[in-house]
Amino acid sequence: MPVALRPNPGDVPDSPYAAALRRPEPRGRFSPELEAEFLRIDLTRDRVLIRTISTCAVALATGHLIEQIASAEATVLVLAEMAFIIATSLALAWLAWSAAFERRYRPWASVLVPARGAVAAAHVAQAAAHGQIVLLMVVPVMLISMYFFLGLRLRAAVVSAALAAVSFAVAAVLYGLAPPIALRSDLYVLAMLIGGAIAARQLESRARSGFLESHLIAELAQRDALTGTKNRRVFNEHLARIWQRALADRRSLAILLIDVDHFKAYNDLYGHLAGDEALRSVARTVQAFVQRPLDVLARYGGEEFAAILYDVPSDEAREVAERMRQAVMDLNIEHRGSRTAEMVTISIGVAAIEPAAGRECSGALQLADQALYEAKVRGRNTVELMDEGEYRLLVTGVFSKDLAPVRRRGESAAAYASGAGRAR
Ligand code: GH3
Ligand code: MG
Ligand code: MG
Repeated sequence: MPVALRPNPGDVPDSPYAAALRRPEPRGRFSPELEAEFLRIDLTRDRVLIRTISTCAVALATGHLIEQIASAEATVLVLAEMAFIIATSLALAWLAWSAAFERRYRPWASVLVPARGAVAAAHVAQAAAHGQIVLLMVVPVMLISMYFFLGLRLRAAVVSAALAAVSFAVAAVLYGLAPPIALRSDLYVLAMLIGGAIAARQLESRARSGFLESHLIAELAQRDALTGTKNRRVFNEHLARIWQRALADRRSLAILLIDVDHFKAYNDLYGHLAGDEALRSVARTVQAFVQRPLDVLARYGGEEFAAILYDVPSDEAREVAERMRQAVMDLNIEHRGSRTAEMVTISIGVAAIEPAAGRECSGALQLADQALYEAKVRGRNTVELMDEGEYRLLVTGVFSKDLAPVRRRGESAAAYASGAGRAR
């Protein structure tokens, strides 16, 4: 039997969808932001259905009016009722087809639907009292559409259905519908009223669960399972997007590559599980510096993280990186296997540049990589920044042969490569 994919809220503890999913079913209202998002998505999903049903209602009401006029028995009151039903149906259909659907439909529908329902139910009771028994089936159909087809929230649907039921019962007495028929019809309508409310509540709860689960799955697909930061795919996509934006807005970008020092030795000494815990602590600490909406931190690979800081000049980027480095040191995670310090430390390579036309973002990433390499060479637990000076020596993502400053620093690279080994 196929197993339904259900996300575990514990995997993304900081997600608002996970927090809402942890509450027991049936699901009622969410927090205001989630609720607004849910209602918008729910309404958009139902749009075709709402259009179809509301257009059909106009056609049916118009057909019935023509029938009434043709029969020449219609009183002024009946014609006025029909005019009201057609006008409200037209208004609903217009809203369903209009560009303002998302904004206007629900507030108007929660007034128009109960008003039309009450009048239509009274009209049906009156018509049935005059022998048109076949019209009695309109009332349950109307209740069903209020609950399931008109995009009303549960409370508005219950109010509409209850109003229609009361209106029908009162009109049946007023217009003298035969008591056995009236009683049986009232019972059917009551059953529909209660049964529909229960079913609609369950459906809404299921729709709410689906909304939370699908958003949580989308979030999980973006996260790194160990640290909860974004994953490399999200980083790459974000970099490509933010690069274009920075290019258009002539803003600077800082790309930080952050690598834990001597982490292999940490695993060897304290075990892989302790290593995992240390990585989580480092991720949490670094994440605190990457909080703005256009910034992103991702686990780039193994014990390496990458961050993008939008519109941050190079001196500020260096300062942020320096504070990150210090904050990780301040965690004071003992690391007796490190040849750099007594605790876990990080090295950071920063590329601080302003994107230029004809340049690829991969070049900036390569610059950060080179800066990280230099930070490792310089002894680790340090920040190394490269900016326009070095960046100009990159030709569409590839270092030109003429990379004098990097080569100058690179003299010590051989020692790093042969000594500690290239870390990454
Ligand atoms: P350097 O200072 O030069 O960066 O040295 P290093 O030991 O950190 O670098 P190296 O690339 O030799 O080793 C990286 C280590 O990171 C090896 C690997 O076991 C560890 N690592 C990578 N991913 C994980 C992980 O998810 N959990 C744990 N516990 N360790 C990991
Ligand atoms: Mg490392
Ligand atoms: Mg590494």
